[in-house]
Amino acid sequence: MEKVVIIGSGCAGLTAALYAARANLRPLLFTGRQPGGLLTTTSIVENFPGFPEGVDGYELMVRMQKQAERFGARVQFGTVESVDLSKQPFRLSADGETVETETLIIAAGAGHRHLGLESELKLENKGVTYCATCDGALPMFRDKPLVVVGGGDSACEEATYLTRFGSVVYLVHRRDSLRASKIMIERTLAHKKIKPVWDSTVTEVLDVAQGKVTGVRVKNVKTGSENAIECAGLFVAIGHTPNTALFKGVIHMDDHGYIVPRHGAATNVPGVFVAGDCSDRVYRQAVTAAGLGCAAAIEAERFLAARNE
Ligand SMILES: Cc1cc2nc3c(=O)[nH]c(=O)nc-3n(C[C@H](O)[C@H](O)[C@H](O)COP(=O)(O)OP(=O)(O)OC[C@H]3O[C@@H](n4cnc5c(N)ncnc54)[C@H](O)[C@@H]3O)c2cc1C
Repeated sequence: MEKVVIIGSGCAGLTAALYAARANLRPLLFTGRQPGGLLTTTSIVENFPGFPEGVDGYELMVRMQKQAERFGARVQFGTVESVDLSKQPFRLSADGETVETETLIIAAGAGHRHLGLESELKLENKGVTYCATCDGALPMFRDKPLVVVGGGDSACEEATYLTRFGSVVYLVHRRDSLRASKIMIERTLAHKKIKPVWDSTVTEVLDVAQGKVTGVRVKNVKTGSENAIECAGLFVAIGHTPNTALFKGVIHMDDHGYIVPRHGAATNVPGVFVAGDCSDRVYRQAVTAAGLGCAAAIEAERFLAARNE
């Protein structure tokens, strides 16, 4: 019988593991298919405190894992496939193994949606990015034309944020109006550096042969005409999908599948806690995920202490 099981090995899961381990709870963490989480897919992280020169994303996550293991966390490669949270102890199945636990921390993250283009995939981290806050300030984007794809609040926020760095920000949207909040639409369209490209989709990211983004090809969905926009960066902001399907109907979620926390890190099921991007559709940063992981572990520890009083 485990005291704490953690689903996910990103910033949230590994920070939860560190705190739970230091509380002598010997947490068992399942990595999922992406050990180290999303941050391992980026080369340089410049906004995680404590690294004035920046840190390689993969290296940061290896360090987080080592730090958690140093205090007794057990990191196990495996994916949780089913859960039974209807009674204590909770039962989980991971790669054919059944685990029982008194508390569970869900830190399964959220995947960003892709445009689905081969060129997009090939140029990821070479000018194609999914996070303006993370990458916008990189030298490669400074004073260069940039393209944001999307039409919701996130796309508007990303485009507005990028005006600090880019010479011009093209906002490519497949419709002829944005579907963000009214205030956000007004702010976005009023900005002199933002140029909307309506009724259009990106059909190709240029230039795979050069190994960097030099532009995008866009197609007008009404007229069928195509043209190229020169740019140094493509910021895809068409939404995220939280990895929460396992908990549907059991743990309270919003319409987009984000788990809705109560009083910090708790969920509607006593003993089940949540942390990181799977419960955060607003900030989605390494440091916020880590902070939420810390909160979830402290809550789990208090839950166990109260049960055993
Ligand atoms: C390219 C890129 C660059 C970024 N750069 C920055 C940056 O510079 N600064 C910054 O602050 N943020 C950055 N971010 C955002 C940052 O990566 C995320 O906010 C952070 O990783 C969220 O951590 P998390 O632990 O909530 O989720 P994730 O990192 O997404 O981790 C989720 C974990 O859950 C696991 N998992 C999922 N389902 C299961 C399951 N069923 N069983 C077991 N495990 C499961 C996965 O394998 C993974 O280990 C970047 C993101 C991307 C994509």
